[in-house]
Amino acid sequence: MRYVPREPRDGINVSKTHALVEAGTLVAGFSLIFVLIVLVLVFMVELALLFVSPEAEARVFENWQPGDLVAVDADDRRLAEVDALTQRLARHWPDSPYRFRVAINDSEKPNAMAFPGGLIIVTTGLLDRVQSENELAFVLGHEIGHFRNRDHLRMLGRGMLLTLSLSALGDGSGAGLGLTIADLTLRGFSRRQEADADEFGLTLVHAEYGHIAESTRFFERVADEFGGDHGYYEYVATHPSPEDRIDEIRELGRQRGWSESGPPVPLQW
Ligand SMILES: [Zn+2]
Repeated sequence: MRYVPREPRDGINVSKTHALVEAGTLVAGFSLIFVLIVLVLVFMVELALLFVSPEAEARVFENWQPGDLVAVDADDRRLAEVDALTQRLARHWPDSPYRFRVAINDSEKPNAMAFPGGLIIVTTGLLDRVQSENELAFVLGHEIGHFRNRDHLRMLGRGMLLTLSLSALGDGSGAGLGLTIADLTLRGFSRRQEADADEFGLTLVHAEYGHIAESTRFFERVADEFGGDHGYYEYVATHPSPEDRIDEIRELGRQRGWSESGPPVPLQW
């Protein structure tokens, strides 16, 4: 029998399913795989936390800082002041495994963040907006509270893994472990974690000053000015609503019988 070559019939490679349905199935499939990967990674971070002691964390990250930190000059007076205040507050947590370090990020947007190894970063935007040492003390105390609960490591770990998996999927944006990622991941702090950090922060402030006056002042200003001044957006995006926090902080102070009045300490810069 002779072989007679002929053209394949038209549409041999065309699926009987509608193209849009196929595309949809593909996207849904990839999304599902991605969600599963993220869930596994989140679980791995939780697991890793059980094995990484705070002491080991402090050792590994002793001198680490985010690559995109825009540090102010080393002789900036505010750096010495914020560092001294942080150390004073941390003395009221005597068995802390961390040796706290402070860096100031030159950014208009007010914010404060906790990073692995005991690093606390505040922005120049935050320092421009606080009007007494007591206001700043509570913001710092709150960040120290995240270290006690190890929230900083949990969320940063998730953020890192998320970024890595995103870039592995070919997003192409690159996996820079920096302030931007930290901002995003800090948004994931739960209400409970934030309230715990506030409670610990307030305890440190009371131990330091003998009263909790001015602790809510920064948040009152955030609440008042947020509508007009979008510079506060960053802080509000990475922390719970200021109104809620003010109420909770006051309520906690009342429960503990801590005085809400006392002389504010002026800032030294
Ligand atoms: Zn927080």
